[in-house]
Amino acid sequence: MTTVGILGGGQLARMMALSGAPLGLRFLVMDTVVDACAGQFAPLIVGDWRDERALSEFASKVDVVTFDFENVPAESARWLAERVPVFPSPRALAVAQDRLAEKSLFQELGIPVPPFEAVDSRDALERAVEVIGLPCILKTRRLGYDGKGQFRLRTREDMDAAWTALGAQADSVGLILEAFVAFDRELSVVAVRGREGEFKTWSLTENWHVDGVLSVSLAPARVDTRLQDAAFDHARRLAEALDYVGVFALELFCHGGELLANELAPRVHNSGHWTVEGAETSQFQNHLRAVLGVPLGGTSNLGHACMLNWVGGLPDAGPVLAEDGGHWHDYGKSPRAGRKVGHATVRSDSPDTLAEALVRLGDRLERGTQVAPAVDRLRGG
Ligand code: AMP
Repeated sequence: MTTVGILGGGQLARMMALSGAPLGLRFLVMDTVVDACAGQFAPLIVGDWRDERALSEFASKVDVVTFDFENVPAESARWLAERVPVFPSPRALAVAQDRLAEKSLFQELGIPVPPFEAVDSRDALERAVEVIGLPCILKTRRLGYDGKGQFRLRTREDMDAAWTALGAQADSVGLILEAFVAFDRELSVVAVRGREGEFKTWSLTENWHVDGVLSVSLAPARVDTRLQDAAFDHARRLAEALDYVGVFALELFCHGGELLANELAPRVHNSGHWTVEGAETSQFQNHLRAVLGVPLGGTSNLGHACMLNWVGGLPDAGPVLAEDGGHWHDYGKSPRAGRKVGHATVRSDSPDTLAEALVRLGDRLERGTQVAPAVDRLRGG
């Protein structure tokens, strides 16, 4: 009996546990809160990430450790790695936790990125704005996610407000200023690398965000093969450079027909949720296969899929369940503004029938404006 330990007990851990059940796996989850939603499916240890007693109990009960949450302190991951195999490695985690280290690595590997500068003081912000130009975005280097810890500057006058919002974090988590990319599309590659270096990607996914939070994903993305191949090549180079094991997502902006890398998520990713119903093997199961060192499953598409995220609260499931290819995911979390509480995936054999289903759902769920770009894309826009 193999027990997989997961650091972080949110919906990603929950979906991992669900996908691992057919493989006969057991799970143990660690989180800082008692009501972590993966705890509804797997035993849960509650403790601070730096609590050695909790970490040691966790390590003693699992065969391998992985993450649902990338902001587990890298030292805690290293401490665990001295006792039990940890995938992805603490080094990969540390790079992905720091936007500056991550962007510097992208550059070293020849993966294009938006212009960026490290910022450690108000004066440095001024100099960085000079170099990068406007508009631009000031971001925390660490601990930011879903658009949190970001401030957009449109004019030089915004510098004071940006510094008031984030300046206090310059010493603790560090800051980075990035050029604002007026992208045509946002894309992500979800990929998996096994313990022996076997590498697979799912089809490229197109994503739409609302207020920095993922709202809709469409796969396969309707892009030319040149772009898709470039994205896959970036992902492979990154995975090899980090000797990465497991699933990760590389988020990309597409601007003027070229790709710019935004960030690396060292875990299963929201833009890969469609793989549960829309691919031969889901990102969750392939992540487990990778960390366990067993063969990876195929990643080909089963038709066309669109994922709709439920943020803040769940709508009525009825309209989704009434669709032939409609699949419902309730994470068992209490609703709260900005919180991801579930998603739906709609799958269909053709772009046209998927577009029709999305239009029906958009009307019934009052999400017409959010599904419109995906419908447009499916119709060749
Ligand atoms: P992040 O936390 O870096 O993934 O940012 C969340 C979202 O904010 C991204 O998916 C984009 O929609 C937007 N965003 C972040 N950085 C930039 C940028 N440099 N230019 C334009 N939009 C951005």
